[in-house]
Amino acid sequence: MALKLPANTKLSDIKGITPALQGRLAKLGISNLQGLLLHLPLRYLDETRIVPIRELRTGEQAQVQGEIVHAEVQYRPRKSLICRLKDETGQLVLRFLHFYPSQVASLKEGSCIRAFGEVRGGFFGWEMVHPQCRKVAEDTPVAEALTPLYPTTAGLSQASLQKWVAFALQQAAMDEILPAAIYQHLGLPAFADSLHQLHHPAANVDLASLESRDHPAWRRLAFDELLAQQLSMRQHHERRKHQGAPALAPSDKLITALLRRLPFALTQAQQRVALEIGHDLQQAHPMQRLLQGDVGSGKTIVAAMAALQAIENGWQAAIMAPTEILAEQHYQKMQDWLHPLGIQVAWLSGSQGKKERRAMLESVANGEAQLVIGTHALFQEHVVFQRLALAIVDEQHRFGVQQRLSLRQKGGQPHQLMMSATPIPRTLSMSYFADLDVSVIDELPPGRTPVVTRLVSDARREEVLERVQQACMEGRQAYWVCPLIEESEALQLQTVTETFENLQATFPELRVGLVHGRMKPAEKQAVMTAFSTGETQLLVATTVIEVGVDVPNASLMVIEHAERMGLSQLHQLRGRVGRGAAKSSCILLYQDGRLSETARARLKIIYESSDGFAIAQADLALRGPGEFMGVRQSGVPMLKIADLERDQDLLEAARSIAAELLAREPRAAEMHLARWLGHAEELVKV
Ligand code: ADP
Ligand code: MG
Repeated sequence: MALKLPANTKLSDIKGITPALQGRLAKLGISNLQGLLLHLPLRYLDETRIVPIRELRTGEQAQVQGEIVHAEVQYRPRKSLICRLKDETGQLVLRFLHFYPSQVASLKEGSCIRAFGEVRGGFFGWEMVHPQCRKVAEDTPVAEALTPLYPTTAGLSQASLQKWVAFALQQAAMDEILPAAIYQHLGLPAFADSLHQLHHPAANVDLASLESRDHPAWRRLAFDELLAQQLSMRQHHERRKHQGAPALAPSDKLITALLRRLPFALTQAQQRVALEIGHDLQQAHPMQRLLQGDVGSGKTIVAAMAALQAIENGWQAAIMAPTEILAEQHYQKMQDWLHPLGIQVAWLSGSQGKKERRAMLESVANGEAQLVIGTHALFQEHVVFQRLALAIVDEQHRFGVQQRLSLRQKGGQPHQLMMSATPIPRTLSMSYFADLDVSVIDELPPGRTPVVTRLVSDARREEVLERVQQACMEGRQAYWVCPLIEESEALQLQTVTETFENLQATFPELRVGLVHGRMKPAEKQAVMTAFSTGETQLLVATTVIEVGVDVPNASLMVIEHAERMGLSQLHQLRGRVGRGAAKSSCILLYQDGRLSETARARLKIIYESSDGFAIAQADLALRGPGEFMGVRQSGVPMLKIADLERDQDLLEAARSIAAELLAREPRAAEMHLARWLGHAEELVKV
């Protein structure tokens, strides 16, 4: 057997691959032989048969062969090349609207042509528009395997991709790494066999299962990819244990003092997660824990307790919030809770003057500030801590694609606590989030009255206005949320301002406030403070109030054009009410008659369910995992072949096999990781 090239051989080391070609392949994420091997076809052409013209069916992709009996360039109605191809059974028109002189030359009368294309019934009988054609000798053999069609990029032809993938398939070493028992038990073929089957399927293959990707060959690669992801996540998790972080002894004094002052007792669930977090913080390696709990489940107090454990040990803690409004609220709350314990809470805000800001930064740098609160954006800038032990990231799902936090400490990393009200569906938590530890608050504080949700057509606006007035006259407060207008921020601003003016005119006796994303932080703050102290009764807002805002006296929320919002977003918004003892409701106003079927289905989910988990699951099904991936920090292996929904069984298998492999065959695990981590640049570099 000829010696094979290692799969990680760089394209630049392969004769015949020009720098220009390398550049184009790089655009597809291909940098070595392995990349070529794992560049899998999107579809296939069946060039293994020649179909007699009489047997063609409209809509079918087919290969025909025959003699050109007539060819002419027509100029009306538009310039086109029309050829008639004849075999023993009939004739077919080949039509080209764009063509080169070279094509005219080869498609001339008398040529024997093999054409592949989609058959249509045209004015002249059967025809193919822009078929792929080549001149052949009459007895040229047909292809033995289906022809793969690859995802490609500008300037890179299928022919070139096909050639180089075939080269890789022939030249690269594709040794089996996994013990046969593992894949055979799952009914999967060997690695090399799978690649051959996928790139060059035999003529008699079940094409449907290949293209729908539940063919065993495809599943084998999906499994391998999932296994690599599981191995890498486990490794990630393991490596973290070897990084240093301050070991924080349990806090007796401060936490006890805080709890004694609270007007409520912690729920069972809060106590449990607080213990889990407290335990992690005692370890000398960095915690990376996700604290999940539905809107209003009381994550903030748990965060405060974690911060106190750091502070009591003489370290600093930081809380990052996605918006200024939320940062301000956290600051208020932490001041209320922690100032009486003699703790210095600092906050960084976009509205601070330069001088004040500098003073804050200084107190953070010299360690005077024990707890520091600000928006995520502010922490991305240069903030130097004296002794940071714990970084808490609130409402993490709102951050969009995370950059790695630039909060590294000298000689170790801070512990990290991420908090999210958006539960992560099981398939995601088993895959992309598998390296995180998760705590769940699965219980709401007692005494909450469930929010009654109603779907109301815009035609019944009058009734809704009455409800608002009534609630405010009874001493409670209300939110009026204006629609999200993604296309135009200016239009959104106009809408919210007009709504504000209209409501003010409608309710001269009410004190109405207005808050939106374009206001300066200080303005926003003033408005929010006025609302939380009850000075204003009705707050007109854009979705800036989506997260975290906590005004227990607000018992009514009206959301306009609810059909435009994401499900999790609606759930978050709705969570702003129902925080006090008063009976609360949320009115989803929709434009009657203009609601699509899907919009209706989505509103129904929100209407019927108050369970954040069920809603997130539905949202995932509707929108795909992109949204949730926003929660992840970069550096997590993205899946290219496996699909978490379709391949859920393989995911389960990969999870248990990863553990087994690491324990029993560490060398195979290492090789498998090298194979799969080597090919995609974005895979974790640990
Ligand atoms: P979220 O998990 O959405 O961030 P918060 O931490 O803002 O929720 O808590 C929501 C409200 O519930 C706050 O007003 C908070 O003070 C209150 N709260 C938290 N825990 C309890 C509890 N155990 N009993 C009663 N109220 C609580
Ligand atoms: Mg919160």
